[in-house]
Amino acid sequence: MASSSGAIHYSLILYSLFFYFYMMRRRMISLSNPHLKVFRDNIRSLKECWALQQMKGIRNQIETLKLTDREGNRRLVEQLEDKLYNLKEALRRSIVLCCVCEDIGNDRIFNPKTNEWICPDCYALVRNLYRELKERVDHGGDPGDHDLGYYATFLD
Ligand SMILES: [Zn+2]
Repeated sequence: MASSSGAIHYSLILYSLFFYFYMMRRRMISLSNPHLKVFRDNIRSLKECWALQQMKGIRNQIETLKLTDREGNRRLVEQLEDKLYNLKEALRRSIVLCCVCEDIGNDRIFNPKTNEWICPDCYALVRNLYRELKERVDHGGDPGDHDLGYYATFLD
């Protein structure tokens, strides 16, 4: 019994390492079957709805605690605000939403440098924008509010 449990742990570690190194490369997850696309989008929509419901519940708890204004509520409110922030970040960095347009549909490309998922349309847009801004900066222009370092993470 103990040896099979050890084998399971060993295979889980190997799988985790394989997945880690696999994901460290820029990967595109694409579906061609329209039925699977609908299924994928429905699953993403469910996950987003679940996360939004959780966030709504946390916000309601925070508002209730702020209204009662008792001693000790401040610490609880801070914990709930941290939980809300972590949930927002988890949703934003998940494959559910594109990190730029926040759309549920479409395929995804993983950016291992920022741990974000982006749709192919936004990926092409960011790459073109980077090239234009880089050319402008190279000729002495101002990139404005754009973060060239961030855009550069989307280059191969
Ligand atoms: Zn997008």
